[in-house]
Amino acid sequence: QARTNQCFTLSNAFLNEYVFMVQARGIQFRENVKNLGAQVLEQVVRGAYSVNGTDYSYDFNFNDSDAPPTTYLPVGFTYFPSQICPERLPSMKGRLEVNMSEVSLEDVERSLLEVEPSMAFGGYWKPKDCIPRWKVAILVPFRNRHEHLPILLRHLVPVLQKQRLQFAFYVIEQSGTEPFNRAMLFNVGYKEAMKDLDWDCLVFHDVDHLMENDRNYYGCTNMPRHFAVKLDKYSYMLPYHEFFGGVSGLTVKQFKKINGFPNAFWGWGGEDDDLWNRVQFANYTVSRPHGDQGRYMSIPHHHRGEVQFLGRYSLLRHSKERQKVDGLNNLNYSPLVSRRPLYTNITVSLSRMLAPVADY
Ligand code: BGC
Repeated sequence: QARTNQCFTLSNAFLNEYVFMVQARGIQFRENVKNLGAQVLEQVVRGAYSVNGTDYSYDFNFNDSDAPPTTYLPVGFTYFPSQICPERLPSMKGRLEVNMSEVSLEDVERSLLEVEPSMAFGGYWKPKDCIPRWKVAILVPFRNRHEHLPILLRHLVPVLQKQRLQFAFYVIEQSGTEPFNRAMLFNVGYKEAMKDLDWDCLVFHDVDHLMENDRNYYGCTNMPRHFAVKLDKYSYMLPYHEFFGGVSGLTVKQFKKINGFPNAFWGWGGEDDDLWNRVQFANYTVSRPHGDQGRYMSIPHHHRGEVQFLGRYSLLRHSKERQKVDGLNNLNYSPLVSRRPLYTNITVSLSRMLAPVADY
């Protein structure tokens, strides 16, 4: 009965969205329906695999009225080098232009350094007019997306500077022939970044995600944060309540407490769902930016040779037991680290042997 109700609610909701999109989005229509269809299917599959038969709510996020009033500091507000940087600066104006045109890394290096010559080799930056509230390591897992990285840097570096955060980028590149392991790359990036500086906030960032609102503050909070709430590829709706993909952030303390990401997800999908589970088991509640602050565009691309990880649902059923034995504590690797003007590159060849899991 519950399952029939769920399917009914889903198809009903799907129908509403369908009508909405016909009116609102003319051309994008066919692509959106395809993605939505995939997400509805996703809900059904997740429902079928859930241990206790929980009904997953389909969150359409139509209503932004729950957004708190935004009080940003007035233009001309002055702060002092001896004070912690404010979180809601007048320079954070809201909606951002998103430029997806291709550009070379060299051009981006040149133009960003021209505007901010104080950026140190490796892309380290911190504000001089106040004390940064957070020291943020931006971790970007990477393979075969050379045209995306300069687009991301061109877009994000000026925003982080406006947000008055101390930051650096770490690009963790997977070599070798194993399927992509986004989560393990994040674990490697975290370990390497911490050798570098005492970061206190970690942002886990897909290379093809571009924020549309500079009030989406990349500092951490007392709860793990999901930044990429509304993606254009999902018609700017949260695909399901537990969605934790694209861009997320944890303090170093929170990340250590949950034993990092799982290492066992080879191929596309599931690792972000497992991170969500880990965060729940540690009694955290994920926080998200309100309303349009969580909007993102993704750079269109073909999933070149990426394979879906079909075993993800069965692994996810054992998130809790695996959390203790698979993560930061069973990870071995040998990285190749090099610095570029705007980021640190960490190349690492990954294989299953590098993260052995004891019986649980
Ligand atoms: C995958 C997630 C992914 C989500 C949205 C799920 O099936 O397990 O990793 O983020 O779909 O695309």
